[in-house]
Amino acid sequence: MIPTHSRINPYLTLMEIPPGYLNVMGYVDESEVNGPGCRAVIWVQGCLRECPSCFNPDSWSFEVNQLLSVETLVRRILSNPRNEGVTFSGGEPFWQAPALAAVAEQVKAEGLTVMAFSGFRLEELQSDYAPAGSKELLQALDILIDGPYLEAQAVTSPDSLVASRNQRVHVFNPALRDRMTWASDQMEVHIFQDGSRLVTGYRGNLVSDNLDV
Ligand code: SF4
Repeated sequence: MIPTHSRINPYLTLMEIPPGYLNVMGYVDESEVNGPGCRAVIWVQGCLRECPSCFNPDSWSFEVNQLLSVETLVRRILSNPRNEGVTFSGGEPFWQAPALAAVAEQVKAEGLTVMAFSGFRLEELQSDYAPAGSKELLQALDILIDGPYLEAQAVTSPDSLVASRNQRVHVFNPALRDRMTWASDQMEVHIFQDGSRLVTGYRGNLVSDNLDV
């Protein structure tokens, strides 16, 4: 049986998102397992790939989860001085590239770095068949991890930046070349004042109960 979300046309559901808004699955500040240093992380909602053993299958559906404006997200990221950058994960960030590019440009103007994970390969994102806004988002990135997660090529080494061997690390900002120190098999637990929690990292399952921004 075809999963329900596979029958959804992402272009139709993406049209439900007002300009300047993102359909978000999760958000966290001060993560140290999603890129170099201490970073905010935005997990967007929606991915078509259905990779077996995906770390975050709850992100596959394109149905609206929580709509947050670019302005709200930028304010939240910048309000925490420990965030030295933001990482876009998913879901597939490039299905919502225009709004993420706007977030990226605004936080970069304040000196933060921007990184994204994508199931697309860089060549696909540079092609005429890329999702709308891909080139603008690419231009704003300091780091891109590209390629889908392939279970047969999984890597569990604490020295690996990627979760499967087919994935590539593109460092567009030379200043970050010596900061490639996170490991794909790390996990992190965030516990919030209201008792909710968020587990992130390759071995974690994202819990999206902390979306009050
Ligand atoms: S591309 Fe990423 S989010 Fe999408 S199914 Fe594969 S592992 Fe999951």
